[in-house]
Amino acid sequence: MTTTATLLETVGVSADEGRAIPDAATRETIGYAPVHTIADLDAAVAAARAAQPAWNALGHAERSRILNEIADDIEADAEELAVLLSREQGKPLDGPNARFEVGACGVWLRNAADTVLEPEVVFEAGGQRAELHYDALGVVGAIGPWNWPMMIAVWQIAPSLRMGNAVVVKPSEYTPLSVLALVEVFNRHLPDGVLTAISGDREVGAAIAGHSGFDKIMFTGSTATGRRIVESSASNLARLTLELGGNDAGIVLPGTDVAAVAETLFWGIFLNTGQTCAALKRLYVHESQYEEVVETLARLAQAMPMGRGLDAGNVLGPLQNEKQFAIVKGLVDDARARGARIVTGGEAAPELGPLFYRTTVVADIEDGAPLVDEEQFGPVIPVIRYTDVDDAVRRANASAQGLGASVWGSDVDAAVEVARRIEAGTVWINNHGAINPFVPFGGTKASGYGHEFGVHGLKAVASPKVIAR
Ligand code: NAD
Repeated sequence: MTTTATLLETVGVSADEGRAIPDAATRETIGYAPVHTIADLDAAVAAARAAQPAWNALGHAERSRILNEIADDIEADAEELAVLLSREQGKPLDGPNARFEVGACGVWLRNAADTVLEPEVVFEAGGQRAELHYDALGVVGAIGPWNWPMMIAVWQIAPSLRMGNAVVVKPSEYTPLSVLALVEVFNRHLPDGVLTAISGDREVGAAIAGHSGFDKIMFTGSTATGRRIVESSASNLARLTLELGGNDAGIVLPGTDVAAVAETLFWGIFLNTGQTCAALKRLYVHESQYEEVVETLARLAQAMPMGRGLDAGNVLGPLQNEKQFAIVKGLVDDARARGARIVTGGEAAPELGPLFYRTTVVADIEDGAPLVDEEQFGPVIPVIRYTDVDDAVRRANASAQGLGASVWGSDVDAAVEVARRIEAGTVWINNHGAINPFVPFGGTKASGYGHEFGVHGLKAVASPKVIAR
């Protein structure tokens, strides 16, 4: 078993060769990440193109076996990977955080390894037969964000490899070490060139999007960057899966058993300290239970320990970077200036570290306030009062984004009826953000297009081919 120090030593470079990566909580340097160039990218793409045919020729059973071996290794090195992830990303080891994320890497990898995508007979009559086969596409470019860096890298890499593609992955410039370490584990088992991590800045990301050597780009990140990737894809006609930003609404219906759903609701909002694409980011609560929900969330916010991720017991961490800290602070300051009620939090927590922001519940706020209309991506929830369910649905749908949403209520059938009217890729009932490797995940509207996970995810990294006779 490799220790974290060894993994970090293996993937890191010396101070004069690389970029310092801070511990998200303390801001001390934990290591130096290589800063790869466009020439490095070109070399990685050339290696991927050279390696892909033989990888594809291995066939599904052999690739599946290798991916399961990689999952064994990730599980063997899980604690070391989690410690590195916790330091670089900021999420605590405990709670639904770093250990949970590394565990999910194994689960999603095994799912991609074991899911079977058979050819489909799409027409058979009058002596004619047409079959739809799923071939490898070639080389996939995977570009990821900083919030769930390892898990999202696996979501992109695992199905791509399973289908016989080679992959060049570019982690976020904020969390390169975690992904480089993960790729290091993969590469103990993969032939040279099949998977390469390019740890570059945004320019390298932009170069991937327009590179003629890619057949598919899997992108997870902001809507603004997603738009640029669509533009770039005009040049190479790369297929795209775009998992973009969200501003997920939750609607609490009248008659909800608030105590029964309280903790699930809390984590639907504050998972990864709110830095989750499909977290609940604006909560509409019927006036009959408004104060009860606000008080319940505030109580939980005060009770959940926040602090440095390596310290046992913490379940909430810092904002990952200065830019995100400034966005969160700016949105709460604006809400306060508009007269919204800061029920708890609403300020930095400097005694914990430079980028900690207290878990915050904001009440008496309306649509039109930036905290409601924009993605805060931090430990803050605006709670909005409504009177009429139709109006709550209209307001939930008023966003340009449509990643996830949730409906909360004791009458599940009534909640499902409301869910059917909400414009989102997933609508959860009495839950939010609960993903499952068998269930397709993706956004609608400005939250992107394409689906990941399970059979749908394998199809997304394959080239459909009809054989008709
Ligand atoms: P970001 O768009 O700033 O960066 C994402 C990645 O894109 C980084 O690796 C970056 O280097 C790269 N990049 C930057 N410019 C590029 C360009 N022109 N072409 C190609 N790549 C480029 O996003 P972020 O700040 O890292 O992540 C936060 C955002 O991601 C939030 O909006 C969040 O909702 C979203 N997100 C979505 C999902 C999802 O599954 N839908 C998951 C996680 C995060």
